[in-house]
Amino acid sequence: MRLDSLHDRFRSKLFKKFFLPILEVYEEMLRERDTIDFEDMILRPTRHLSGAEREGFWLGQYKYVLVDEFQDISESRRDFLVEVLAPDSRLFAVGDDWQSIYRFTGSNSMVMKEFIDSENPLVAGNEMSGRDDYSFKPHVYRIQETFRTCKPISDVASEFIQKNPAQIRKSVRSRPPNDSTPTVNICCVDRYDNENLKKILDLIPESDKSKGVFILGRKNREIEAIDPRDLMAYRDDLRISKETIHKSKGLEDDIVIVVGMDSGMRGFPNHGGEDPLVSVFLPPSDSYLNSEERRVMYVAMTRAREKIFLVNQSVQPSPFIEEVKEICKRLDIKSNDIVLRGDIVGPCPECLSKGLVEGRWRGALVRRVRSNSPPYSIFLGCTNFGKGLCNYTSGEVPCPACLTKGKTTRLNVRPKESFEKHEVFCVGCNYRKDYDSFRSNSTER
Ligand SMILES: [Zn+2]
Ligand SMILES: [Zn+2]
Repeated sequence: MRLDSLHDRFRSKLFKKFFLPILEVYEEMLRERDTIDFEDMILRPTRHLSGAEREGFWLGQYKYVLVDEFQDISESRRDFLVEVLAPDSRLFAVGDDWQSIYRFTGSNSMVMKEFIDSENPLVAGNEMSGRDDYSFKPHVYRIQETFRTCKPISDVASEFIQKNPAQIRKSVRSRPPNDSTPTVNICCVDRYDNENLKKILDLIPESDKSKGVFILGRKNREIEAIDPRDLMAYRDDLRISKETIHKSKGLEDDIVIVVGMDSGMRGFPNHGGEDPLVSVFLPPSDSYLNSEERRVMYVAMTRAREKIFLVNQSVQPSPFIEEVKEICKRLDIKSNDIVLRGDIVGPCPECLSKGLVEGRWRGALVRRVRSNSPPYSIFLGCTNFGKGLCNYTSGEVPCPACLTKGKTTRLNVRPKESFEKHEVFCVGCNYRKDYDSFRSNSTER
């Protein structure tokens, strides 16, 4: 069993101890209720058909077999297909391996690639099929024109997905963009909520024609706090909906906003990677790093007809964002990099002097509060603080209201009537903020 080959013996032992009894009970329950599950629905007819063939009953009565979403095929589904085909059957399969994002349900896009590359795909990897009596090489038709998305998005997405050498090569043709404003937009916000989404919607020019906006998250948690109805009350010229990327497959809209483009364990791609215990039960993956996550990103980008917004909230964006920026630069595609975070004051001077200005380790100055109990004070800190890279701090916190007028005035802290409560105030204008609410709007990472 593949479980025994795992490095982490302790966990695999525990897993066996807990999971195998559950599996037994599950199979017992299926037997008792005389019922089958989805995998049985593939495995049983496969067994039945191959048995019938041996006894001389040819059940392959289908001359033409069409398979859609061929990229989602698995080994067992391939074996079923082999049994359904008769020697004079014709198979027509349509699929896009760039959009294969259902590995967690057992699909294996490598089976499709094998089909294309192999001299005899029906036998490849399935020597026991007993079907080596006939062979053929499939003819591959490449559909290389997209009518959905405009050229800049299609070009960026194609470059991005084909970084993985295991994906089937294509050169995609598409229509030019509708206007000259940037197609690829990268935004950094404070949080994934309506307040911050409104700042992004402000970047979408009003138009006579009602436009659709699709807000996508890698996981549900990133789009949880977003309420499309409230956003549509704010911008009544837009139709706004939200969905996870997996559920968006097959759908499209004018503008796509992808939230959750952060680095780290809970980011996109998920840096924690797949749990080895889970991998045991999934089909083998191609060896390119984050290949499945890369396809998920490709699906997200290509939902858009006109514009994409890739949104992150940490100062370290997803490495996918860095890649997209690099591709835009290389292909001379108009892109926009916009900081919409309220707490970022500017780049960190010390990081600038150390040359830490590009990419993941770029330091930014954010407003912070010293503590939520006396002594109360506010300061600017570098986002690289605590990573052993930069410990820059400054007591000179500029007033955000004055900054929008191009002036740099200092903020200070003073007690309110009762010394229980404090407030942050500007020495040059009317800006006042309760210390606690200033704190909740500051970065505490
Ligand atoms: Zn710094
Ligand atoms: Zn001020």
